[in-house]
Amino acid sequence: MIGIPVSGRILNGNQIRDEILAEVKQEIAALAYPPGLTAVLVGEDPASQIYVRNKMKACETVGIRSKTLRPSADITTEQLLAIVRDLNSDDSVDGILVQLPLPPQVDTQQVLLAVDPAKDVDGFHPVNMGALATGAPQLVPCTPAGLIEILKRSDIPIAGKQAVVIGRSNIVGKPAALLLLMENATVTICHSRTADLPAVCRQADILVAAIGRGAMVTRDYIKPGAVVLDVGMNRLTDAADVERAFSAHPAKIARFREKGTALVGDVHPGDMEELSSAYTPVPGGVGPLTIAMLMKNSVRAAKLRRG
Ligand code: NDP
Repeated sequence: MIGIPVSGRILNGNQIRDEILAEVKQEIAALAYPPGLTAVLVGEDPASQIYVRNKMKACETVGIRSKTLRPSADITTEQLLAIVRDLNSDDSVDGILVQLPLPPQVDTQQVLLAVDPAKDVDGFHPVNMGALATGAPQLVPCTPAGLIEILKRSDIPIAGKQAVVIGRSNIVGKPAALLLLMENATVTICHSRTADLPAVCRQADILVAAIGRGAMVTRDYIKPGAVVLDVGMNRLTDAADVERAFSAHPAKIARFREKGTALVGDVHPGDMEELSSAYTPVPGGVGPLTIAMLMKNSVRAAKLRRG
């Protein structure tokens, strides 16, 4: 197979998101109570504001009662812990979402630990991570859960496949590896100290890139015919980087010249399109699933807690 350009199928995250949102909406319509989700958005970070706004919009679409609390950027850890404790004890709140990053004076770990695991719709609490690691998942981190949905809904087999995950963060890499393992893939986790990363990645039938480095994964890393899931979201501002990343996409380079910025995943788009059998584009691949899985988790949290 080596050397034969395959030209991959696009795994359309927007379409899969819409399918999931429609299912969640139906599920909620059949419930006696609409689930309630409260977001805590600290300060005025523009990216966080957009993320939370999009999450709240999705709540409206599916029928989740949503609320956003907006403490100011100078909040202390104690004050934020008090807010979380109030939400923990409020029976009308099924899900709590503390939007990250928090300001530097706040102890993020302490705040995430304070969230009641039963309301932890982000799936970041050690209790939920532990449940996932022991093969009994309750609330699973949204982006990794989205990766599995993309594969399943695209009829891509996972069991028995070699999966390589680049990245070992608690938010993406580690839970993605655990979920692939639960689906009976043979999983390798790579990171910044992995020796000969391209050679390890070339073993992958399913390659997940969750690194945070624009277009780092090039043709040397991709086995022809592999399925490539690109989690990365990187904003490029340097013309040379953009020209390298989008060597196969002159229209993107032209748009960059107008806007001064370009969004790219962790995988080189042209190499991924040419060599993979299927891939998630950036944007429009993995990203849309994150919010869809948050909606799913909110319903799951409500059902688990209310019995
Ligand atoms: P982190 O920075 O927490 O983790 C990055 C991981 O990549 C680390 O494990 C790091 O290794 C590894 N890494 C960094 N450089 C290299 C390298 N040169 N070679 C091999 N491994 C390397 O990032 P996140 O996991 O939070 O996010 C990863 C990407 O996914 C980002 O681009 C982020 O924007 C995106 N993202 C997208 C989401 C979506 O909804 N689409 C949601 C969440 C994240 P080490 O541990 O050794 O330092």
